Amino acid sequence: MGLFDKFKEVTRKVSEVENNIYHEKRDYLEIYERNLELEKEIAERTEELNDANKRMFTLQHIWDMMNSSTPLENVLEAIVNSTQGELGYMHCVIIKKCTDENGDYMHIIAQSNDTLIDRLNNLIGPPGIQTRRLNYATDSVFADTMNQRTIIQTKSIDLSLSSVLPELPQETVTKILTNQPIKSVIVVPLIAQKKEFGWFCVFSAREELASAEMDFLGLFAKQIEMAITIADLFQAVREQAVTDALTGLYNRRYFEEALEKEVQRAKRQKQPFSIIGIDLDYLKRINDTYGHTFGDLAIKTIADVLKSNARSVDVPARIGGEEFNVLLPGINSEGAMAAAERIRKSIEKADIDTVGHITGSLGVATYFEHSENAEELLELTDQAMYASKRNGRNRVTLAKPISETYWQEIAVNTFLDILSKNRIPKAKHLSKELCQKLNEANKNESAKEGLYTVADMLTKLYNPMHTPGVIKQKVQMAVSLAKRFDLPKEEIDNLRVAILLYDIGNLMLPTDLLQKATPLTEEERETIKNHPVIAAREILKPISYIQDVLPIIEHHHENWDGSGYPNKISKDEIPLTSQIILIIDEYFALTEQRPYRAKLSGQDALEIIKADAGKKWNENLVQEFISLIEHDIN
Ligand code: GH3
Ligand code: MG
Repeated sequence: MGLFDKFKEVTRKVSEVENNIYHEKRDYLEIYERNLELEKEIAERTEELNDANKRMFTLQHIWDMMNSSTPLENVLEAIVNSTQGELGYMHCVIIKKCTDENGDYMHIIAQSNDTLIDRLNNLIGPPGIQTRRLNYATDSVFADTMNQRTIIQTKSIDLSLSSVLPELPQETVTKILTNQPIKSVIVVPLIAQKKEFGWFCVFSAREELASAEMDFLGLFAKQIEMAITIADLFQAVREQAVTDALTGLYNRRYFEEALEKEVQRAKRQKQPFSIIGIDLDYLKRINDTYGHTFGDLAIKTIADVLKSNARSVDVPARIGGEEFNVLLPGINSEGAMAAAERIRKSIEKADIDTVGHITGSLGVATYFEHSENAEELLELTDQAMYASKRNGRNRVTLAKPISETYWQEIAVNTFLDILSKNRIPKAKHLSKELCQKLNEANKNESAKEGLYTVADMLTKLYNPMHTPGVIKQKVQMAVSLAKRFDLPKEEIDNLRVAILLYDIGNLMLPTDLLQKATPLTEEERETIKNHPVIAAREILKPISYIQDVLPIIEHHHENWDGSGYPNKISKDEIPLTSQIILIIDEYFALTEQRPYRAKLSGQDALEIIKADAGKKWNENLVQEFISLIEHDIN
């Protein structure tokens, strides 16, 4: 081969190599470009996956909350905050559609905590958006989403805002939206149990949302709908519950319904029924000594006794913490007393882990025999049960029938309750003597006189100038006055009890204050005014059967013109019985001697009372009072 040929050969090879290199370079560039594209795609997919992950995480979080017993408002609160925070929206809100006599309106029930809402509230002024009645316009995006049952994304944020808050001036709307990055609002209708519930709204900084994101918001709304449905179902189940969770006995509501039905049946069939009331003795001590778990165990033990002693038609129920009632259809008082005694014995016999033995106090009352009114019958059962407590616990007491002298029993029981529990420290040294007096008087059918004596003795403890016999006069005067106004017997009876008790709060005042000979300071006057009313309430509130008497006592310092205390109520808001006490109390106070003044004559006292007509008491009452006193005097 010649040199030329060799050269040619080399050139060809070089060009071949060059060619190869060129191709490889192109391949390489192609691969490089492809790689770049792939990387970009991977980044996009990763972001999508991250988004999906976040959404799934949020969903999971909400799902967990829905499976716990978190209240609905907290679940909704969590949903809006997750949507806004974790998923990166500007604001998120759940609105409820409501209806009242003025038509449809909207109300915010949950919204995310963000600066947007603070700014809005600042600009619209009080009340804040969350408490406002929002307008429901039939041509708004809200009505549209609801009617079409679709998600709508709107960019007309100012229009939507004006439609829900039509009272806002246009310039405020403009101000609210100025410099805000919100570009669109997505409104999702919420339908729970086939009923229109409201809307889930999301404020976004983007004008358009990808369809996957819209789908996701739809899915989210489904979660909200489910939370609402679950909460509704829980509520319905709770309302339908007839048993008590701790003991499995019937609950109070069921007992009351059963009692009502039983009254109807008793009337129809002329058949009696009875109620046994049971209260666990010394539960506080059990709780304090062994802890609440063992207190609960004692309660469960009573429940088990009641269950095993009940016939199929009986209704054993847990009425309150440690109070139980059993309804015994068709059973008279004799049968009920026997049943109660069986229950008492079984309670006493039970041997409880750690606690040992417990006892209960029982009361029995029978329809027809003791009362023909369900409420009264429950009160009588309660009183009989309290009598068991007072007489040493672990016993059964039969109720006493409602009678003419019912008020005396109420008053006697009230005094016995207060004294035996030493609710008035100042009377502690007298408790035993006074209880004995009441019990004796009760046995000898002279309860009334016993009551007056005890009330006189208690009054003397804070007012040494009190004349014995005055309480009796006050009661008689109050009854005569009440009869002039044709008050019903029950109210007159409540008034009698109130007269015996209205000043009991004075016994809680410091003695030196009551005996002070010099005029009182402003502060002392306030104490004397307010303290007894509060104290009387504290002493009397726990006694269930005098709850109708309490308001009479509480308002006996209210003036007709509203200048009295404690509630400054006026005119007909004040019970007439309270006004009767006020006027009688004043009359006796004026005609009695006080450390700081001599006693006045009856006539002078009446003049003072007359001067306050229309101010402290109503004029009609003054007239009747004067006529009563003058009638008495002449
Ligand atoms: P008494 O013999 O006078 O009835 O004395 P007591 O201590 O049982 O009565 P009191 O009515 O003064 O107190 C009742 C206590 O029962 C107060 C409360 O803490 C407790 N209690 C109420 N409900 C429950 C409950 O469900 N479980 C437990 N462990 N204790 C309860
Ligand atoms: Mg108890």
